[in-house]
Amino acid sequence: MSWEKNVRKVEPYVAGEQPKDRDVIKLNTNECPYPPAPGVKKLAETLDCDRLRLYPDMNAEKLVNALADYYHVAPEQVFVGVGSDDVLALAFMTFFNGEKPVLFPDITYSFYDVWAQLFRIPYEQCPLDENFRIKKQDYLKPNGGIVIPNPNAPTGVLEDRDLFEEILAANPESVVIVDEAYVDFGGKSMIPFIHKYDNLMVVQTFSKSRAMAGIRIGFAIANERLIGYLKDVKFSFNSYTLNMPSIEMGTEAVRDDAYFKEIVGRIIKTREWTKKEMGRLGFEFQDSQSNFLFVTHRKVKAEEIFLALKENHIYVRHWKKPRIDNYLRITIGTDEQMQRLIEFLEKYLKEKSDD
Ligand code: PMP
Repeated sequence: MSWEKNVRKVEPYVAGEQPKDRDVIKLNTNECPYPPAPGVKKLAETLDCDRLRLYPDMNAEKLVNALADYYHVAPEQVFVGVGSDDVLALAFMTFFNGEKPVLFPDITYSFYDVWAQLFRIPYEQCPLDENFRIKKQDYLKPNGGIVIPNPNAPTGVLEDRDLFEEILAANPESVVIVDEAYVDFGGKSMIPFIHKYDNLMVVQTFSKSRAMAGIRIGFAIANERLIGYLKDVKFSFNSYTLNMPSIEMGTEAVRDDAYFKEIVGRIIKTREWTKKEMGRLGFEFQDSQSNFLFVTHRKVKAEEIFLALKENHIYVRHWKKPRIDNYLRITIGTDEQMQRLIEFLEKYLKEKSDD
């Protein structure tokens, strides 16, 4: 059709499947297997619906203040959005307007190249080494910005904070985004370094360690000037992003630190058990410090295992992409879910080797 020449054409991001069937063991989108903090449930049950007549607080002050307190930063250094996807998309739009390419790893969160294409941002993907590690020198060349998750996804590999310090110090003219969606599962946050590097933006989410993927809250912490620019773009786009129940429930989740630490601790324990079992079954993987494992089997193709699991109502993630098509990303569920996964794999792999 003739109007199509004026359409902004993009190849959209493909999220993991959300099956309708509730009996599935769902290990495909890195959600938390535990419910949100008890106070969040209480708030949901006692929500004053009359208040929904009114617009929410466009600055989400309550939530921003709770996060500022928790992370020992000023409220002016905090930005909240509808999931970290919202925060990251706005950050791409706000900070990556140079002529030089934005840099990110070749194996990484598959939304980055989609945003770059959507916003017409030139980009270059820097190949990870054979152990899925970041090669520092790739990020020391001229660039229009840098974005790296730590731990990286879908590899689960955690890099030391020194690496990011070196990248930040070498790139004072670029905004460097560290996407810490999975940092609570064993990493150390770069948040304290926002006081040292005015070009650093740290992004985190409530979707994984705070068990609230359904509520959609993400946030950025950075120097107030950076946050100010991000707010200017947000308020030129959509003022009322977070809704009132999200602001209330998010605030409650941040306040219950004991529950947060308890569920994160449980997931880490289950992850370490799963690593041992997967190793025993002939899987190989890097040492994940996130809430998922990225595994390949010595003998059986990943796609075959993926399909067999799916047929048996266990969902994991598989990408038909260069370098990673023989890998599966498996979210850490409850102990019981992981036991069922291991039992199935043990039987399945034994039958295959008997063939
Ligand atoms: N960054 C990374 C590395 C992720 O894996 C995800 C989860 N898909 C996100 C950001 C976005 O998470 P959310 O929008 O749920 O906060």
